[in-house]
Amino acid sequence: MKPLLERLQSGEILVGDGAIGSMLIAHGLESGQCPDLITLEAPEVLAAIGRQYLEAGSELLTTNTFGASPLKLADYGLDDKAEEINRNAVAILREVAAGEAYVSASCGPSGCILEPYGDTSEEAVYTSFERQMSALSDVDVICIETMSDLREATLAVRAAKAVQPDKPVLATMTFDETPRGFFTIMGTSVADACAGLLEAGADVVGSNCGNGLEKMIEIAADFRAATASPVLIQSNAGQPVLEKGVVHYPESPDFFAEHTPDMIAAGASIIGGCCGTTPDHIRAVRKVIQ
Ligand SMILES: [Zn+2]
Repeated sequence: MKPLLERLQSGEILVGDGAIGSMLIAHGLESGQCPDLITLEAPEVLAAIGRQYLEAGSELLTTNTFGASPLKLADYGLDDKAEEINRNAVAILREVAAGEAYVSASCGPSGCILEPYGDTSEEAVYTSFERQMSALSDVDVICIETMSDLREATLAVRAAKAVQPDKPVLATMTFDETPRGFFTIMGTSVADACAGLLEAGADVVGSNCGNGLEKMIEIAADFRAATASPVLIQSNAGQPVLEKGVVHYPESPDFFAEHTPDMIAAGASIIGGCCGTTPDHIRAVRKVIQ
């Protein structure tokens, strides 16, 4: 495979993958269970999800390591398993991808609040990401995602670049709409997020999760207005609603297909999905891009 950044710089639009978490819930993951432990307990489930995304046309397959930083794993008393979980998650997808897709390491928030608002030091967060990213040495790409605190996001980007300087780093944050535009819950605007992530060393910036595809198209345009760097957008399938005790995401694969031309026009370089998206969403997006 050609290096990811080379393809993006030539103007190619790539397709990411969709949700893992909501797929795991569909496979029987119960609330309160550590999703990252599935890697050790049921690797075949993750391989099956990875294969479905590959068959649907995903060019990046995301590891099940969103919460596998030692700080986050400590919520479940599993921080001593960080290396084993991260290494195994990569190995599962390495085999599935078989050179046909990039293996992308998911790194989510630590779950801790940085000083002075919380009691976690920058050093503790940096060290935690450093440990996770060292264990993810066999990936093609590192994807830092669902960040709301720009300081934490930049610590993660710096740790990624320190540990794996030759790997592309993708960094995405989650925004809500306010009367003054889009901001993270910590109050960071798209323009500030974009500048801060790039300055820390990110190669690709953008947004994931969020409040549905139409808002994400506006966010993509805001990123594109702020940078010439590649932009990654992975939208939820809309805001989840509870129907008869089951969480349902309203935006269908057809809805994603309909809006993909607008997403490309807004400036997205990699288009994937977040919560509630499935291999069918990815297949629909891929068809439009092709
Ligand atoms: Zn999400």
